[in-house]
Amino acid sequence: MKMIMFNTKKYDKDSFEKALEGTCHIVRYVEAKLNIETVKLASGYDCACIFVNDIADEEVIRELSGNGTKFIALRCAGFNNVDLHAARKYGVCVAHVPEYSPYGVAEHAIALIMTLNRKTHRSHNRIREGNFALTGLLGFDIHGKTVGVIGTGKIGRITAKILGNGFGCKVLAYDKYPDSELKACGVEYIELGELLRHSDIISLHCPLTPETHYIINEKSIKIMKQGVMLINTSRGALVDTLAVIEGLKSGRIGSLGIDVYEEEGDLFFEDLSEDVIQDDVFARLLTFPNVLITGHQAYFTKEALINIASVTVSNITGYEKEGTCENAVFCDRIRTSASGRIIEK
Ligand code: NAD
Repeated sequence: MKMIMFNTKKYDKDSFEKALEGTCHIVRYVEAKLNIETVKLASGYDCACIFVNDIADEEVIRELSGNGTKFIALRCAGFNNVDLHAARKYGVCVAHVPEYSPYGVAEHAIALIMTLNRKTHRSHNRIREGNFALTGLLGFDIHGKTVGVIGTGKIGRITAKILGNGFGCKVLAYDKYPDSELKACGVEYIELGELLRHSDIISLHCPLTPETHYIINEKSIKIMKQGVMLINTSRGALVDTLAVIEGLKSGRIGSLGIDVYEEEGDLFFEDLSEDVIQDDVFARLLTFPNVLITGHQAYFTKEALINIASVTVSNITGYEKEGTCENAVFCDRIRTSASGRIIEK
């Protein structure tokens, strides 16, 4: 199969080259992100392989389909950047990698919690400057705190287990499909409002859907505990950033750790150190001492890169042989929910 890979970094190419060994697929790697300006690059390619910030909206999918591309292979789990209705309309199959580093992402959420709490990033800088003062570095024991996990799928359940079993936290959870194994581990499923009201730390692990868009907003922040720590390693638009900034200014939100940002497409994955950041909302976030931002790196482990490449290549091979594949999000008449459940056949 002829595939074009958009948004390629050297580490993507290295892992895909290994995964492609022994196959007959022909791959062209391009650095450009997929959008309406770049879609013509895919002309004549059967498959477009894309990542989290590539845009496959209706206009792009119409162009892809018109130019012969019948398969979109996402090399990530979330598919909020693909218009699935348009994919159906234009007969384009969409597949994703449902799981590649749930441990890596959960562990990164814990890293954000730990760093924000004990301020190790600040003490590292201080010590290098010869400043050994402790003022401003006061943390709290995570043991015994109440943590709210929103979305207990592959990543959320690992986060809940690390915090419950490892740290001895009380874990509250909110999910449309409660997990009986987690319940047996002592995780308590409650309504979203109650979770927000009672949690010292809130960690987001649900997908971005119309229902979860701005699940954290002005109203929900108002009912949170004073000084709550908010962690988002899921998708930026789960959070209304302007409302979160107000929450940080008032002190309702005591600290914020994010690996994702709703307008990250213009920033993340690029070296912009010589540029002036044009996004004033993001720039405001950078001014808070109690905000920690990483650039969508939660997934970025050796294991994840190997899994992403091998599953994507097997999706492509499956599609070539069968016209569908195991990880099809939408293909012909098979569609699965964000949590992987088949909702239509
Ligand atoms: P998953 O599908 O296994 O789990 C998602 C869970 O959210 C499911 O249990 C589902 O029932 C629940 N959910 C769906 N809608 C909900 C709603 N309205 N309210 C509450 N819960 C709801 O997904 P996952 O593999 O655990 O990944 C979670 C998210 O993490 C992904 O959607 C993706 O956006 C993000 N992610 C980020 C990175 C990163 O590098 N930062 C990497 C991988 C995934």
